[in-house]
Amino acid sequence: MANLVIQTAFLGDLLLAIPLLKQVKRSFPNEKLYLVCRKGLGPVITELQLADVVVEVDKKKSSSIREAKKKLRPVQFTNIFCPHQSIRSALLVLSLKKKRAIGFYDWWNSWIFHSRIRRPMDLPDALRQVALVTLADSKFDVKFDGESTDFLNGGLQNYHLPIVDFREQSIPDWADMQCPIDVSKIIEKKVFLAPGSTWNTKRWGREHYIQLSHWLKDLGYQVELLGSPEERELCQSIADQVPGLQNHAGKTSLIETLALLRTGQALVCNDSGAMHMAAVVGLPTVAVFGPTTLDLGYRPWQSRAIVVQNNLLDCRPCGLHGAQRCPLGHHQCMKDLKVERVIQAFSKLLTIPESLEI
Ligand code: SF4
Repeated sequence: MANLVIQTAFLGDLLLAIPLLKQVKRSFPNEKLYLVCRKGLGPVITELQLADVVVEVDKKKSSSIREAKKKLRPVQFTNIFCPHQSIRSALLVLSLKKKRAIGFYDWWNSWIFHSRIRRPMDLPDALRQVALVTLADSKFDVKFDGESTDFLNGGLQNYHLPIVDFREQSIPDWADMQCPIDVSKIIEKKVFLAPGSTWNTKRWGREHYIQLSHWLKDLGYQVELLGSPEERELCQSIADQVPGLQNHAGKTSLIETLALLRTGQALVCNDSGAMHMAAVVGLPTVAVFGPTTLDLGYRPWQSRAIVVQNNLLDCRPCGLHGAQRCPLGHHQCMKDLKVERVIQAFSKLLTIPESLEI
């Protein structure tokens, strides 16, 4: 017997499924755990030993979906957990042998899932996803109800302040997305910057990252840039302006990036996959939020994090993921977010004396 999790969304969503993967393993310790994920993301899950079998799919190719079905059809699943809400994922659930299919309630999907809950939108996404296990494990149900409400979006924190500090709220073990990664050495005063994002409007901007890099260099920090192959040019254009910056963008696999992050003291990034990667290795993080807001549920899922945002704009959020172009044309959510505020958050995070802040 085995269990299956289907999460074919972007990297960040997959990493936020780590508490779900860990909990399925804890609830069904004697059963193999399968995962279906987006093409290219499988190796990181395998390396982190979060699933026994990983099947990647390229959602745009029907041949890839057929291939995945061929691998999964011989298996009899005890439970299929499907946090990813799409027709394609639902049809995959339908095509497989299972005792129970578990998903989030939608008006069209009663014929797909045996057990459904309403997606708990008032909770951070990592908790939304792991909530599915409450339908398969009654012991977990008790734990989940008892502690998850401490994390209601906007509950304990004031999510609308310019700087939101998560450091006083520790994440319980059962909901943690941190994974052990061994590295030989952690370098004090090494800071990573990840200026990219799949969505343009979620980028804080090259000039801001250049100013921040100068400030960090002046304080004696070793500054290194991280990003995907598509973000290599952006990172290089920042590295070119600040002597001594090292650009790793596009040169490291996801697992290598996690190991690299473990060697540093902190990360400054946007609301992006890098922010969730830092949570996996427990790296203190300053995340700059623009078109997205914390109420959407995608906060950094760790306790050593601070979020900086332009809290004066009525147009935030303007979408669940951000957009390639600002719908209003001015992109003030990021353009008006001054480097001084990020420096203030960074100084809080690493307790740098106020006299050195700016
Ligand atoms: S509409 Fe507002 S929140 Fe959206 S990108 Fe433009 S400035 Fe940012």
